[in-house]
Amino acid sequence: MEQYDVIVIGAGASGLTSAMYSARAGLNTIIVEKGVYGGQITKTADVENYSGFGLISGADLSEHMYQQAISQGVKYMYGDVKSITQTENGLHQVNLKSKSLTAKAVIIATGVEHRHLGVEGEERLSGRGVSYCAICDGNFFVGKNVVVVGGGDSALEEANYLSNIVDKVTIVHRRDKFRGQKVLQDRVFNNPKIDIIFNHNVTNIIGEDKVKMVGLEHSWNGNGIVSGMLLTNVDGVFIYVGLDPITKPFESLGILDEKGYIITDERMATSVGGIFAVGDVRQKMVRQIATAVGDGAIAGTQVRSYIDSLD
Ligand code: NAP
Repeated sequence: MEQYDVIVIGAGASGLTSAMYSARAGLNTIIVEKGVYGGQITKTADVENYSGFGLISGADLSEHMYQQAISQGVKYMYGDVKSITQTENGLHQVNLKSKSLTAKAVIIATGVEHRHLGVEGEERLSGRGVSYCAICDGNFFVGKNVVVVGGGDSALEEANYLSNIVDKVTIVHRRDKFRGQKVLQDRVFNNPKIDIIFNHNVTNIIGEDKVKMVGLEHSWNGNGIVSGMLLTNVDGVFIYVGLDPITKPFESLGILDEKGYIITDERMATSVGGIFAVGDVRQKMVRQIATAVGDGAIAGTQVRSYIDSLD
């Protein structure tokens, strides 16, 4: 079985940073990633709030982070992690689909995935007008009309991005106030190509082989006041209603909170010795590239202290 000092699971901003710090601390470090490196950043067209870079594309920032980690000695492999178990001699065994690796310490950086709305038509029309990634699918909608669902940073940022491609964007949000950053709110309010429908939930997405319409209902649920509305002439629906942590492989470790996020202390250590967690997958207040990188720097130095304490 291949043995490392540190295995990092996931190659987003937090995983790449923790691996780089760990390698620079002289530890034999490998990242295991089941998709492409960069994580959520790769699904962002432009990053404009990561200090030091001004405006940089998500693709370029991911590439910089990956190249920097590799140049500092981090190893990298494709792998789909199914579980972490413990060996008899106290190592952590990371079990992939087809093989296992061992290490003295593991840093979990698996991030989050986009939540689904769970309404009629959503799954059936996924890839046929329903999307969770504007940067991946936006170009299919040149000159068309799309709906963006949600009121957080992602919905506002992606509505602005889509407005440069499509004819019209309609944001549907369930409350009368956005949750996203003020600067992003101002941008959608002042964008002539964006309409906003507050206080409505999506009830269903309609179309046979592609999206045609979106059903809405008023979200006042006080005393059964429900009024419906049908958005017609819709070609695409982009859903940004939050994120869920990717932690299924770690359920048996007893390190998750009730929402499935990983609980850590300020050293990024979980309650299991030698298992750390960083980035969006961690129970935390602020999910940003800057905080992911900060988590990575902390975990990447703390694994050195942990491994030294084993001797
Ligand atoms: P989020 O902040 O959790 O926002 C989710 C939005 O979807 C909220 O407005 C929420 O409404 C709405 N929503 C949730 N469930 C819904 C449902 N079933 N039906 C209809 N609407 C629903 O998620 P996010 O926007 O993906 O952002 C996730 C994290 O990444 C945040 O920490 C965010 O700050 C960060 N992020 C940062 C940037 C940036 O800094 N540029 C960009 C993207 C994301 P309510 O408001 O009513 O709860």
